[in-house]
Amino acid sequence: MKLDTRAIRYLTAEDWRVLTAVEMGSKNHEVVPTPLISQISGLRGASGVNRSISNLAKVGLIARVKNAKYDGYRLTYGGLDYLALNTFIKRKSIYSIGNQVGVGKESDIYVVADESGKQRILKIHRLGRISFRTVKANRDYLRNRNAASWMYMSRLAAMKEFAFMKVLKDNGFPVPTPIDQARHCVLMELIDSYPLRQVTSIADPPKLYADLMSLIMRFASQGLIHGDFNEFNILVHEETQEPVVIDFPQMVSIDHPNAEEYFDRDVQCIKTFFARKFGFESEEEGPDWKDVKRTGKLDVEVEASGFSKKQAKELDKYLQQIAKLNERDGDEAGGDVSDENDDDQEEEDRGSGMENEDDEQPDNSNLSEDSCEMKNEAET
Ligand code: ADP
Ligand code: MG
Repeated sequence: MKLDTRAIRYLTAEDWRVLTAVEMGSKNHEVVPTPLISQISGLRGASGVNRSISNLAKVGLIARVKNAKYDGYRLTYGGLDYLALNTFIKRKSIYSIGNQVGVGKESDIYVVADESGKQRILKIHRLGRISFRTVKANRDYLRNRNAASWMYMSRLAAMKEFAFMKVLKDNGFPVPTPIDQARHCVLMELIDSYPLRQVTSIADPPKLYADLMSLIMRFASQGLIHGDFNEFNILVHEETQEPVVIDFPQMVSIDHPNAEEYFDRDVQCIKTFFARKFGFESEEEGPDWKDVKRTGKLDVEVEASGFSKKQAKELDKYLQQIAKLNERDGDEAGGDVSDENDDDQEEEDRGSGMENEDDEQPDNSNLSEDSCEMKNEAET
């Protein structure tokens, strides 16, 4: 979905209170009843509340839910975007919003600027988008999640990404400097570079290859596996040709039950890409999982930084479901941005409540068929 910020400066203080009330009400109600919105907002007089509700609904920040037993509203992704942006604006992290520069499968990337005009990257997590975009059979697969629970998952992804970036940056890894995080959004340094996949000429492929492999080993020695280490998530400075790694919601500890598989997949992604794109194959084998020697505990440290084990588990479960879905559908799950209105689809997808936590654990034994190889195929 597009980020449409035209209305953001026109919302009144009451509108913001009502929008926040809908968000708060959503924690316990799939459809927030109008009287509850009014009550949470703390505004006196129903007419003011109703006026705000109608303003917010008009610009699509909340949506009326008609077929419920009672009259009510739910927050849309647009509403969540506004709440997050407002937080950033109030904290002076963001002053203006520029162009969309990237689209991941489950994120939108914008260039934004602070008051001094310094550009930054805003990553808006949009988990659940894959399931909206694939065929009906696949939507059934994840249908026990509703819009509010996708928003919650997106928030977890943003929290996790921010926490990992911070720990990595603090420990000297080449990642963008994390600046701020609110709800489902992460604000970070803009890296003036292109994803490896788009870079047309690399002066010294063997050197870059060696740098990337040693980076994988450095992650691992600190207890971490990137988990999606491929030509889309490695940015390369055009002049210096230094790599910068991005995209962290799927990072795992080397103590994860599937760690070896993820590690091998990261290594293999780079090997496959360098062989195809540069005709480069290293004479050295590996790096090998057996060579990993733990010297640090960033995987443990990150837990202390506000992203708990419980939250990690919840997100992991979701990411495994998505991996499973990718496996079944191949590229169909790919994330092109169309102007399709996701909110209509969310409405349709509104299934049972958020509390559906004990759905069966999907089998993830086939994770090696995941993203990077599919992306590689897509390129040929
Ligand atoms: P996703 O999780 O959806 O794959 P990514 O974090 O990989 O999202 O970002 C998608 C794209 O956005 C990247 O391939 C890159 O082109 C661009 N991008 C993301 N972060 C930055 C950044 N800090 N600086 C410059 N470009 C970025
Ligand atoms: Mg990515």
